[in-house]
Amino acid sequence: MMTIGGSIDNQDETDFGIEYDDAFSSKYIAKHILGRGVSSTVRLCCDRITNDEYAVKIIDITGQNHGGDNRAEAIQEEYRNEVLVLNKLIEGGHPNIINLIDFIESPTYFFLVFELCHSGELFDYLTAVITLSEKKTRAIMRSVISAVAYIHSHNVVHRDLKPENILLDADLKVKISDFGMAAELTEGVYLRELCGTPGYMAPEMLKCSMGLENISSYGQKIDLWACGVIMYTLLVGRPPFWHRKKMLMLRAIMEGRYRFGSPEWDDISDTPKDLISKLLVVDPKLRVSAEEALEHPFFQQTEVPIQTSFNARRKFKAVCLVVYGVVRLRHYLGQRIVSPHTIQENPYGIKAIRKALDGCAFNIYRHWVKKGQGQDRAALFANSPKMDIKNMTSSLSSSQQTTPTISRSSSLTGIIT
Ligand code: ADP
Ligand code: MG
Repeated sequence: MMTIGGSIDNQDETDFGIEYDDAFSSKYIAKHILGRGVSSTVRLCCDRITNDEYAVKIIDITGQNHGGDNRAEAIQEEYRNEVLVLNKLIEGGHPNIINLIDFIESPTYFFLVFELCHSGELFDYLTAVITLSEKKTRAIMRSVISAVAYIHSHNVVHRDLKPENILLDADLKVKISDFGMAAELTEGVYLRELCGTPGYMAPEMLKCSMGLENISSYGQKIDLWACGVIMYTLLVGRPPFWHRKKMLMLRAIMEGRYRFGSPEWDDISDTPKDLISKLLVVDPKLRVSAEEALEHPFFQQTEVPIQTSFNARRKFKAVCLVVYGVVRLRHYLGQRIVSPHTIQENPYGIKAIRKALDGCAFNIYRHWVKKGQGQDRAALFANSPKMDIKNMTSSLSSSQQTTPTISRSSSLTGIIT
């Protein structure tokens, strides 16, 4: 049996039937890459006996691809921790938490076998649709916060909640994953490390790591802050705190400085805004808990399952209604609903164009762009390109999509530079 040495990152994404160490390969067949983490590669895999499909997270524990022996120790600690936490959460289980099926250890790799999430990351889903309706946001956030309530009831803090770590199964049902940064809160344990992803970090975690305001530790409420950031992002397609200069972004987070700006928030009702404003509260004592958030009026309306299958009859009916509506409107208004003049004057003020522009902006910059902070989306209307498109395309294709996760051992200076 062939065992692959060297960098797993070098392997071709279409290289089916790859075999790793015997301990893993005697049970499973590894297939194509589903995603990558900071120090892991996740592949589709297949049980040799049952043919059932899973996702296997493969971690090179020698550290040779990630900075040597010291890093190897940190990597092993991180993934052992993930297994420990997941085993603790598996008792009783929760439908919105990823299920760890198997854990295999070899001298060179860890293999974490998970249930398969066919629809990938919430991040990719959001990138494809740009924004989500209030109904879909409600369905997703209810699942996320109910999983967070379950995690907290087991005295665990996730510490890295973000759309990349929220997976969707074939029915677009939410599964919280990536418990590598999770911590167990036992008596006498105080959390002080800076970990997670900058845009989702809670003010108290940042202040604690900077030694500000005598904050000596943080707790479970940091996950609720991250939920606020995620919910905001789902509704308008951009995060509440973002700045090209990381330090300015971190300052805005610590001051809880965000806005429900126009025009993105104009069409959104007050109930989700109210919940966000109760999640994005600087003082963790005043921030709602997961249980309290689930009691919020935003979640008191009946959940509508996300429409996944194509229903021709339903689509046809919707198209007819839209055409009928437009004809009636034109009749009453006696003018075009959106005139070319309006489009020329303020294209960004029209929702459909705004969505398309935001999609283009994301594809160009690979992060959400905030208007009025030196990165005006209106620049997309410029007649001549501001940069060399050829170079830009090649640099884009080599750039990574995932936002970096700061490991538990990183210092704040690491993210500010
Ligand atoms: P890391 O701990 O190294 O950050 P993650 O657990 O976040 O790794 O996994 C990296 C990526 O792999 C995810 O963002 C996702 O795209 C993909 N992935 C992980 N688990 C699964 C799964 N169970 N089903 C499908 N894709 C997955
Ligand atoms: Mg991850």
